[in-house]
Amino acid sequence: MKLLVTGGAGYVGSVNAARLIESGHEVVVLDDLSTGHADAVPDGARFVRGDIDDVIGTVLAEGFDGVLHFAAKSLVGESMVDPAKYWQGNVVTSLRLLDAMREHGTPRLVFSSTAATYGEPEEVPISETAPTRPTNTYGASKLAIDHAITSYAAAHGLAAVSLRYFNVAGAHGSIGERHAVETHLIPLVLQVALGQREQIQIFGEDWPTEDGTCVRDYIHVTDLADAHLLALEHATAGEHRIYNLGNGTGFSVKQVIDTCREVTGHAIPAAIAPRRAGDPAVLVASSERARTELGWKPERADLTGIVRDAWEFTRSRQEA
Ligand code: UDP
Repeated sequence: MKLLVTGGAGYVGSVNAARLIESGHEVVVLDDLSTGHADAVPDGARFVRGDIDDVIGTVLAEGFDGVLHFAAKSLVGESMVDPAKYWQGNVVTSLRLLDAMREHGTPRLVFSSTAATYGEPEEVPISETAPTRPTNTYGASKLAIDHAITSYAAAHGLAAVSLRYFNVAGAHGSIGERHAVETHLIPLVLQVALGQREQIQIFGEDWPTEDGTCVRDYIHVTDLADAHLLALEHATAGEHRIYNLGNGTGFSVKQVIDTCREVTGHAIPAAIAPRRAGDPAVLVASSERARTELGWKPERADLTGIVRDAWEFTRSRQEA
């Protein structure tokens, strides 16, 4: 298939672009490089630098079999202090994309959604039928896009799949996580191991969990990319399907730090800090629907392996 990957210079987008190329698809990456890196665009992809708002019509006019839409603003904290950036940058831009796809007859969409659409869960593991009550603007903006996709699919015959990611981590060979402003746990802990940061702060030790720290479901970025390939294959005209992607196993912040200590051999000093606003205590996915309907089977679920891949990537960047 000929596929457009928006946000293909970012972490998740570039790994997906690489995986699509490895699977024999023709890939065009569209990215404005506001947070991505031109050198993350994988070999074999054609790169168009531009803003979706400005160029999407021209790009889609070439004719594509589908779009994988990763381009987004994705910092929870920032979304609370600058919501316009999220409503404009995520919702308005995605509506532009949907309208351009409709105008140019692009038949398939795979959308990068998030567990943040659920908010504080009533039950774990979280299934796709759980109530969606996001606790931050980032999650609300992604949920709004999911709703728009549902109605475009029903009204205009779009074949659409939204994938709701839990905590994506690890690296796909030489492609990994490197945000200018890093907020995610595993890359931050690895920065401590490299001596780039003095210590890791644990956001709260008084949560209602076994060791008092927050529990999350970490998924390897390559397993995540495999689910996108399956989603493309299974997308059906007129339907919008939604799938959670996680491993179904939770690890606490302290367990993650311990795993990083084991993998890196560094002491990694940690300090207890106040809770972070908007953090739910436990987020663990039920991915039964993705397993049953897409035939998805995560093959890199082991946390040690996920951290090892992230560590190898981080060290190789340090040496480069
Ligand atoms: N966390 C932490 N210290 C940090 C960064 C994150 O204790 O410096 C915690 C955070 O409160 C959450 C977990 O690690 O419970 C995962 O956070 P991350 O930002 O990686 O992902 P999120 O779950 O927010 O999507």
